[in-house]
Amino acid sequence: MQFSRKLSLLAAGLACAFAAHAQTVKETPNSQFKPTGKGWGELDNVATAASNGQAGGASRGASITNLSYHGGPVMVAPTNVYYIWYGSAWDTASKNVLTNLGQHLGGSPYFNINTTYYNGSNTHVQNSVTLAGSTTDSGSLGTRLTDANIASIVSSAITSGKLPADSNGVYVVLTDHSTTATSGFCTQYCGWHDHQTVSGKDIKYAFVGNAETQCASSCGATSPSPNGTPGADGAASVLAHEVEEAVTDPDLNAWYSNYDGSENADKCAWNFGTTSTASNGAKYNQTFGTMKYLIQQNWVIASTQKCLQHYP
Ligand SMILES: [Zn+2]
Repeated sequence: MQFSRKLSLLAAGLACAFAAHAQTVKETPNSQFKPTGKGWGELDNVATAASNGQAGGASRGASITNLSYHGGPVMVAPTNVYYIWYGSAWDTASKNVLTNLGQHLGGSPYFNINTTYYNGSNTHVQNSVTLAGSTTDSGSLGTRLTDANIASIVSSAITSGKLPADSNGVYVVLTDHSTTATSGFCTQYCGWHDHQTVSGKDIKYAFVGNAETQCASSCGATSPSPNGTPGADGAASVLAHEVEEAVTDPDLNAWYSNYDGSENADKCAWNFGTTSTASNGAKYNQTFGTMKYLIQQNWVIASTQKCLQHYP
């Protein structure tokens, strides 16, 4: 998630965390940025050197904040999503909210926004997502997970045979509300995506945290929430965000902005567009199956680039 886009929902104190991060990115006039998968960019020294070698360097006009293609793979085959329920505090109602989302994201007018993205052969992303499997890890690595721990939870689920090794897969580690991620859950991000090699395959994976009881105000666990499950309802938007980024920028070298390293969903983080009010008073803007959700918009790259709730 792009932290800067969260500021409107954040308590003022958390702005400090962003400032601290900003200091780690040393921007020069011709700096080029690449994504980290966590919603912020890091300096791309190779691209910056190339840019500085050009007369006048790269243009930094308004259009450079748009996304551009950087040559890496895009997930153009039908996408399989796998859930890893981590921790012992997941309840059935909360799991239902996220399972239903995974079962209905594919084929939706919302996910269709991603079909505007393509690879170097001009093959486009398909509006096809299947929740192809799930497994549980009741907490093998404790309640404070490092990035390496999260990578290991994914690789262990594959090498142990609980989930298949699928290069068309996006493996989502869904942590329960009593688990945190120590590289910055709640202060720097609400989720992130990355990739690693497991069993000889390029495995795309994501972390999506449950903010209930930890940081409802910063990671979107609103109350009332559309399904009466604040943690899962908040995680739903983060999950959609990370899957969209994994599909269009799986190895962090395909679709992103040179300007700040932002990926498609980062451009629209916390932008919900037009909302309706459910009978319980909760705001929502999407219906998947029979369930309502408040899901962020996503960035379309048609004739113009902008945030949309659905495409076309
Ligand atoms: Zn993001």
